[in-house]
Amino acid sequence: MTQTASDSALSADGEQRRFASLDPRTGEVVAHHPIHTAAEVEDAVASAREAATWWAGLGFEGRKTKLDAWRRILSQRADEFISLISSETGKPADDSRVEITLVLDHLHWAARHAGRVLGKRRVSSGMLMVNHSASVEYLPLGVVGVIGPWNYPAHTPMGSISYALAAGNAVVFKPSEFTPGVGTFLASTFAEAVPEYPVFQVVTGFGETGAALCAAGVDKIAFTGSTRTGKKVMAAAAATLTPVLVECGGKDALIVDSDADLTAAAEAAIWGAVSNAGQTCAGVERVYVAEDVADEFIEIVVKRAKKLKPGGEPNAHLGPITMPSQVEIIREHVRDALDRGGKALVGGPDSIRPPYVEPVVLADVPEDSLAVTEETFGPTVVINRVPNALEGVRLANRSKYGLGAAVFSKSRGEELAKELRVGMVSINSVLTYAAVPGLPFGGVGDSGFGRIHGDDGLREFSFARAVTKRKFASVINMATYDRSSMAGRQMMRLARVLFGR
Ligand code: NDP
Repeated sequence: MTQTASDSALSADGEQRRFASLDPRTGEVVAHHPIHTAAEVEDAVASAREAATWWAGLGFEGRKTKLDAWRRILSQRADEFISLISSETGKPADDSRVEITLVLDHLHWAARHAGRVLGKRRVSSGMLMVNHSASVEYLPLGVVGVIGPWNYPAHTPMGSISYALAAGNAVVFKPSEFTPGVGTFLASTFAEAVPEYPVFQVVTGFGETGAALCAAGVDKIAFTGSTRTGKKVMAAAAATLTPVLVECGGKDALIVDSDADLTAAAEAAIWGAVSNAGQTCAGVERVYVAEDVADEFIEIVVKRAKKLKPGGEPNAHLGPITMPSQVEIIREHVRDALDRGGKALVGGPDSIRPPYVEPVVLADVPEDSLAVTEETFGPTVVINRVPNALEGVRLANRSKYGLGAAVFSKSRGEELAKELRVGMVSINSVLTYAAVPGLPFGGVGDSGFGRIHGDDGLREFSFARAVTKRKFASVINMATYDRSSMAGRQMMRLARVLFGR
């Protein structure tokens, strides 16, 4: 059976309106899912609130036991999970395997490190307050609403979900309308491991369901998607002063220095641009290569890119474009680049044959072209020559986005990395930071703000509570109206000795 998502939105099942998730390779229905109404989303948040109290009460060790049990279920059912991710996104099985590997790694890390990062710890009370002890601990916010994308339907939202749960929050997750089955699979396997309370729930539907989640009184919203929708989410959250974490797109650059290992740089450029059919927020969309090595670098890129073919088979190099409307954006960017004098070194407008797009390598594209300024989100890459790597860094930094970047250089990778205005940099590789659970993930500018992963990702889903406890009376006590007239002068003298030099 073949139908479009919008047709299927009208299909009814009793009172519950449903929609279909489709396999983008074939257009066939994978499964039907409810279109949850605002009232249903509110109910989910209300039951999550009760669950949150129980979940927080388990403490770090109790939650770790439960999250470890969930991780084992996900691992045991990996084949089913891989097939579901591939069905809803169209991505080759190996890309789904990479995603699940990252899901397991991050879930393991978050559960294991939450106590260390968020648990109560002593803080020096300083010389002036030496008669007090001081401590800080990080408490769960309550209920976190997670709104996720379709490109990495498991790994990306789990960057929020795993860390929010480990920090002691309940979660209500709205997956993308293109990947509701993956979200439902995550929540149903969690319920197997934690049957007591609805600590992690899924609500499915379209943008309205996501908007309803923003208005349902959650304590934080973690959003991943476009900058445009990110702004809408932030505006909705402002009405209730609800904090937001906004992970948006990017226009990530790879800089190739004169002394770089060109084979490694070319391989990384191609993989970073084409894997997951280019639908990676931190994928490589621009390359700035030093003029003196540009010809050799481009030759290797072209040779390798020509070998890559899209398809629906499990072992294809790249799958289809998951979201049909994205195809027109890719077409527009390629056309605009060529109209403005850019060259197509591999592929071109004819490479765009929905639902597939063959790799497209463009060169010498003007810096004000759409393919350089806007997120393309397809298996395309722009390679522009620069006099030297520092000029590449300067152009990389001109983007309104600032998610990630990569630098290939034998002698000065760190020096160049330091100059990049982005949240993450890989030196002599691409995207590696996303696979290191201890590192924070997120960007600046139009790429959003807030961090998932790592210590910062755990703190993102908590609030700090600071406590002081008086140990003994101070010789100079300023916090009383019984203080002597000398006390203020003595305090000032002490402050000058301690901090005045
Ligand atoms: P959107 O930003 O439109 O959607 C992301 C998520 O937000 C989806 O779950 C969506 O639901 C939901 N949503 C939509 N409208 C609202 C709203 N008003 N309030 C709350 N939630 C809402 O991204 P798209 O999937 O449409 O992709 C568009 C572009 O975004 C791509 O071209 C790409 O450039 C970028 N993108 C970036 C990603 C990244 O990882 N940084 C991931 C995905 C996309 P629904 O899907 O049901 O509409």
